[in-house]
Amino acid sequence: LQERLGSVFDKLKRRGALSEADVTAALREVRVALLEADVALPVVKDFVEKVKVEAVGQNVLKSVTPGQMVIKIVNDQLAAMLGADHVGLNLQVTPPAVIMMVGLQGSGKTTSTAKISKRLTEKERKKVLMASLDVRRPAAQEQLRVLGEQIAVRTLNIVPGEQPVAIAKRAVQTAALEGFDVVMLDTAGRLAIDEELMAEVAAVRDAAKPAETLLVADAMTGQDAVNVADTFNQKVGLTGIVMTRMDGDARGGATLSMRAVTGCPIKLMGVGEKLDELEDFHPSRVASRILGMGDIVSLVEKASENFELEEAEKLAAKIQKGKFDLNDLGSQLKQMQKMGGLSSLMNMLPGMNAGQMKKLKDAKLDDSIIKRQLAILSSMTPLEREKPEVIKAKRRTRIAGGSGTSVQEVNKLLKQHQEAARMMKKVQKMGKKGMMRGGLQ
Ligand code: GDP
Ligand code: MG
Repeated sequence: LQERLGSVFDKLKRRGALSEADVTAALREVRVALLEADVALPVVKDFVEKVKVEAVGQNVLKSVTPGQMVIKIVNDQLAAMLGADHVGLNLQVTPPAVIMMVGLQGSGKTTSTAKISKRLTEKERKKVLMASLDVRRPAAQEQLRVLGEQIAVRTLNIVPGEQPVAIAKRAVQTAALEGFDVVMLDTAGRLAIDEELMAEVAAVRDAAKPAETLLVADAMTGQDAVNVADTFNQKVGLTGIVMTRMDGDARGGATLSMRAVTGCPIKLMGVGEKLDELEDFHPSRVASRILGMGDIVSLVEKASENFELEEAEKLAAKIQKGKFDLNDLGSQLKQMQKMGGLSSLMNMLPGMNAGQMKKLKDAKLDDSIIKRQLAILSSMTPLEREKPEVIKAKRRTRIAGGSGTSVQEVNKLLKQHQEAARMMKKVQKMGKKGMMRGGLQ
């Protein structure tokens, strides 16, 4: 994707804001990348629309290309869609808290049941009881029992011929009687979704009243992800998703699909076959992975941090030389628009006292005024901005007309600039005095 976006944007000149055409061109490539990452088509469509709205008109940071900028925006939106932050398991119920694991056959339910049990036992010192409700596959209950031995977690004893709902009830009863904190129910799966499976899982849910119903899904699930997640959510009701095989080649597009259709947080992810290979789900990391370009994202993040600092430092340096023209006022206004104040700029200047700081802060203007003032400044010629003293009555009328403002507003801005320039001179002198004093003593 990076290369393709690169070629799209090599053709475009760098410009201030992302235009709709820029964004549309870039998003065409993003769409292909998301489909390649196995995100389901309807989810891709929605997502692309959302990003478009977000991206058009955003400014391109100086040290990055428009292509990189779009990637950052796409990445941020992806992370936002995947969930703002990591959401943990909710076990805040009267014990025993029941966690029911559901999903298709082979998705990793049994393995994840053991992984979560191990984690709860070792990290959170919970007393966990595991029970397999998979009575269809002959070895399934035995599989969980063996895993339980490996991680030293109790499994409910197996009663031949017992049905899933009865096993679930017995597990909860046993846990209540023997003081377990958590009951893990490992349900049976099918190769594909069917009515019988849904009915069985719903019956277990009604009997066990789980605090968490976790859909276990393979990260390799492709276009089917929406269907699987949606059906389980509709028929059983999900509280979270466990994404397995995140250690494989899959880019994890299923995470986005499933999150989008269910609205459920992805709570955990399996990253290997071993029982300690379970991790918290981190939306931003997975977002970069889906896009496959984490390095670009961090580059742009860095650029946006540096940008504000750079601008402020440049201005501070100019002021210290005693120069403060309307261009400087313009970048100051833009800065104010961004940061909502002058404080960070002022902090870089020597010799400002609290009273002066306050005065400047009080002069802080609201956004619409700043916008009008920036319009006035952009209606001036470069000469006028560099040498404001040339702006006499005629020019003021022209500038007001060009910016759709009034002559009074232009006058006010010029006056404001004069005041600011005077203040800057003072600051500069104070800075010098301070330095001399320091140097001579
Ligand atoms: P179930 O049918 O849903 O209970 O699936 P299982 O738990 O039996 O897992 C099926 C296979 O997937 C087993 O071979 C597991 O070792 C493997 N597996 C489960 N989770 C992961 C994972 O996160 N990464 C990898 N690489 N393999 C996994
Ligand atoms: Mg199983």
